Amino acid sequence: GGGRGCVTLRGSQFRDLLDAKHNVLFDCDGVIWNGETAVTGAPEVVSLLKQRGKRVFFVTNNCTRPRESYVQKFSRLGFTDVAEEEIFSSAYCSAAYLRDVARVQGKVYVIGCSGVVRELQDAGVHVVEEVGDDEPGTNISNCPLDPDVKAVLVGYDENFTFMKLAKACCYLRNSECLFLATDPDPWHPLRGGRITPGSGSLTAALETASSRKATVIGKPGRFMFECIASQFDLDPARSLMVGDRLETDILFGSNCGLSTMLTLTGVSTMEEAQKYKDSESPEHKGCVPDYVVESIADFLEALEE
Ligand code: PLP
Ligand code: CA
Repeated sequence: GGGRGCVTLRGSQFRDLLDAKHNVLFDCDGVIWNGETAVTGAPEVVSLLKQRGKRVFFVTNNCTRPRESYVQKFSRLGFTDVAEEEIFSSAYCSAAYLRDVARVQGKVYVIGCSGVVRELQDAGVHVVEEVGDDEPGTNISNCPLDPDVKAVLVGYDENFTFMKLAKACCYLRNSECLFLATDPDPWHPLRGGRITPGSGSLTAALETASSRKATVIGKPGRFMFECIASQFDLDPARSLMVGDRLETDILFGSNCGLSTMLTLTGVSTMEEAQKYKDSESPEHKGCVPDYVVESIADFLEALEE
């Protein structure tokens, strides 16, 4: 189809784009790494961007690790110069939201793993301690509920249970109890063609059970960009978002007024991008990337002196 978007960058065009941008935001899984393997060339791209004076940020919907554990992962995978301050995860941003925006007084009931609980605790947000649910005789009609709960936060949770769902929807009966989700991701690729359900699928269960809609903190919501912009003075017009999932990363970039680039080392394909481009539907416009590259290794040529 015609119109703008889905431009494959070559040589001087890529250089011109990089000249025009001061900040590069990278999604992590599918862009920087796949699971425990760095995308070929990614460590060099990050270092070179920094050497050229660009500011680099990492924006991940993965809520399972605290920031410091991302620093370790970057260094384990051969990235030598990534700092904690440059990493914005949906767990870190959920904690910032609860502390600085919602200013929640009382406790948060968390469906999620230890990483998100750690970020909340580091931010001074009180989390309900999970106790005693597996004792004989405890069931959904008599399990203890904490009267101090003022928010429910749902994230990726490999120990998700019917009991957690039941408790969360009881808390949400109180219309003053906030309902937040770390991210809307439906699923994630694993090795060998398998997938794992994402936070979005657990959130959907709770949305049905509570007849409420969650406020989404992660991409494609704008809050993660606001979080970065509040700490670093970012001009959206001079920022580029690089991601592998059209419905989260590219829509996030569009929602925040950034230029967007799809890389084909992850979830979404060129065909899907083209479908959004050809679609008449206005809500699909935000999912059309401005640029498409095979891999972020394509930055290397544009970064050579
Ligand atoms: N959440 C979980 C639990 C994941 O495993 C992943 C990817 O591996 C993500 C979210 C998506 O992370 P990203 O936004 O870096 O692609
Ligand atoms: Ca991704």
